[in-house]
Amino acid sequence: MEKIRRTKVTDVLKRTDFGATVNVKGWVRSKRGSKGIFFIALNDGSTIKNVQIVGEDQNFDESVVKLITTGACISVNGILVESPAAGQASEIQAKEIEILGACDNSYPLQKKGASWEYLRTVAHLRPRTNTFGAVFRIRHNMAMAIHSYFHQKGFFYFHTPLITASDCEGAGQMFQVTTKNLYDLKKDENGQIIYDDDFFGKQTSLTVSGQLEGELAATSLGAIYTFGPTFRAENSNTPRHLAEFWMVEPEVAFIDLDDLMDLEEDFIKYCVKWALDNCKEDLEFLNKMVDKGLIERLQGIIDTEFVRLSYTEGIEILQEAMKNGKKFEFPCNWGDDLASEHERYLVEEHFKKPVIMTHYPKSIKAFYMKIDDEKPVLNGQEMEETVQGTDVLFPQIGEIIGGSVREENYDKLLGEIERREVPMKDMWWYLDTRKYGTCPHGGFGLGFERLILFVTGMQNIRDVIPFPRTPGHADF
Ligand code: ATP
Ligand code: MN
Repeated sequence: MEKIRRTKVTDVLKRTDFGATVNVKGWVRSKRGSKGIFFIALNDGSTIKNVQIVGEDQNFDESVVKLITTGACISVNGILVESPAAGQASEIQAKEIEILGACDNSYPLQKKGASWEYLRTVAHLRPRTNTFGAVFRIRHNMAMAIHSYFHQKGFFYFHTPLITASDCEGAGQMFQVTTKNLYDLKKDENGQIIYDDDFFGKQTSLTVSGQLEGELAATSLGAIYTFGPTFRAENSNTPRHLAEFWMVEPEVAFIDLDDLMDLEEDFIKYCVKWALDNCKEDLEFLNKMVDKGLIERLQGIIDTEFVRLSYTEGIEILQEAMKNGKKFEFPCNWGDDLASEHERYLVEEHFKKPVIMTHYPKSIKAFYMKIDDEKPVLNGQEMEETVQGTDVLFPQIGEIIGGSVREENYDKLLGEIERREVPMKDMWWYLDTRKYGTCPHGGFGLGFERLILFVTGMQNIRDVIPFPRTPGHADF
């Protein structure tokens, strides 16, 4: 076959130089034929759209035509022509076809309409479907949006370690990292494992968050963000949790709670707008096939001001709702962590908007959050201390961001660490930020996959990451 430089399908579909000879390569989505003519829908992953290849049986070897089956990989030389068919401007009249990779009928993506569960069992092939192609192209675009946003705003992309010796972050259960022989562990007289002969000479784990190191960077470079994998060994089998997920964690010096909320809101809106501007065809597909309200919801986010609400005000609204007959499975007394049904009520029923919730009880939040000066009052009664934490709650997703202003006062921070018995023996470096030229600062963590869930309208977090890791699942 004559060598002609390949054109991607996304580019060939934009061309109008009809009569030109082109080469396209890709995977056969479908082939049909009638009266000696065959039609191939060819996709190469560069776009959700297929290019139509038209050929006459008589011009090709029967043995070649027989191998043009669903899933087969082919290379086509042909003439770009205006298409008589509706829904496409152009098509390719095939002159030469080469089978790059045949595909027999054991191909797992033969049938349309396979369930999400089934497709997870063929995660190595599911990017070849329309839906997963769209999801992963959007995922790429969201990564670009994140870098673009922060770069534009003068934040530096800072790389924090994935292997950590600090087990104090408290954000979740950790996976241990060791090269020790698990069948022959060195132990002390109390049966505790001795790590001095382990790879790092101490116990280490995969990080649950880059925040603490991010704070070091913010208190020197001014504004940074991390964007990388995070690991949590929590045994939560929900459609919102993964054991390995990607997190975006900006951290900024010299900001207060209002600045932090402004950043959270502006950042999410920027990412959603990026998707609407850059992923139009994929979003239109998902809007049609997966979630009919998707594009309207995305547009709605950009046009809405997020509600900013204190935890105490949230509790008031929830208790008022219960008085008026609303039933919840879990109680919501001041001091309780809100259950997802409570968050959903506030976001989806009461406000019908994203909610940034702040000023949580100190007892349900992490040790590093800045303690509020004043205690809140509920029904005329003074409550316990609160902290300057913010959770951004989204329709259908629940918590998409968790952030806070950090406690910058050395004594207060140490007091919390001691009171909570946070294991800080390896954390002297963290306290040093408060000891040497401490400054007000804050930041947040956004779960990248939760953002992708929102932007794609997919229902399960396992379907927005190529190879999901969840309890009992580490295939591919
Ligand atoms: P959740 O209450 O939903 O379990 P969290 O409060 O433990 O979340 P944070 O420690 O605040 O989460 O982490 C910051 C962000 O990371 C969350 O707002 C969420 O978007 C995301 N996230 C947290 N845990 C997971 C997980 N297991 N899988 C995917 N994303 C997660
Ligand atoms: Mn959180």
